[in-house]
Amino acid sequence: MKLPEVHPLRPQDFVSYELWIEKKDPFKVLVGTILSQNSTDKSAFKAFKSLEEKVGVTPQALVGAPLDRIEQALRVSGLYRSKAMRLKQISEILLQSFGGDLQKILVQDMEKARELLISMPGVGEKTADVVLLTCSNAPLFPVDTHIRRIAIRLGLANEKDTYSKISTKLMSILPRDSYLIVHLAMIQHGRTICKAVKPLCDRCPLSNCCEYARAQVGEPKESPATRRHRSSGAGKSKEGSVGN
Ligand code: SF4
Repeated sequence: MKLPEVHPLRPQDFVSYELWIEKKDPFKVLVGTILSQNSTDKSAFKAFKSLEEKVGVTPQALVGAPLDRIEQALRVSGLYRSKAMRLKQISEILLQSFGGDLQKILVQDMEKARELLISMPGVGEKTADVVLLTCSNAPLFPVDTHIRRIAIRLGLANEKDTYSKISTKLMSILPRDSYLIVHLAMIQHGRTICKAVKPLCDRCPLSNCCEYARAQVGEPKESPATRRHRSSGAGKSKEGSVGN
């Protein structure tokens, strides 16, 4: 059983993906992804709809609107004041340097596009990777808090590993065309089964290859060689696979 089969894709569970399906507008995906920072996707959806109604979700509308009107529109989202400020700043940069068109960044070489996105206020590695993977199908694997936790519990990563190390590790064991679907399935897995507190290991299709689950029943850790062998096939194995 593979994760995408356990968690069939429901776009409405993911603000970035739903906005991409609905609008096909990378700027709106970037705004939705920023709104989902430190917030649930449900709150981010509400904030996005409110922003759309009260201000408009274009660089022009955000630059033209008073900051307090943007803040009011975003009140349902966490950290709404700083998000309002960042959206305004990003919109100014886009208008000044890219004619208000985020697509002009996304069509560049992937590393350059990523660098430009990360240079904007409020855009970190994860937000940049979500936008590039969702809108451009770039070969990137965004790592959020759920994915980080699952990777550590499975034994694919360590507590001290950087974002980049975990992302690279996951990409190395997954089929290239599965990054988006597995990224979304892992988030859903973290929300519903591999929860931060009391993970539901008895319902988990990954329990047969999970270090955390092995430790719970007193089994020793796998040897590095066995782990390497399992990792190399993790995207393809018949049972307990994260891949598609
Ligand atoms: S077996 Fe438990 S700890 Fe491991 S991935 Fe599944 S739910 Fe998470």
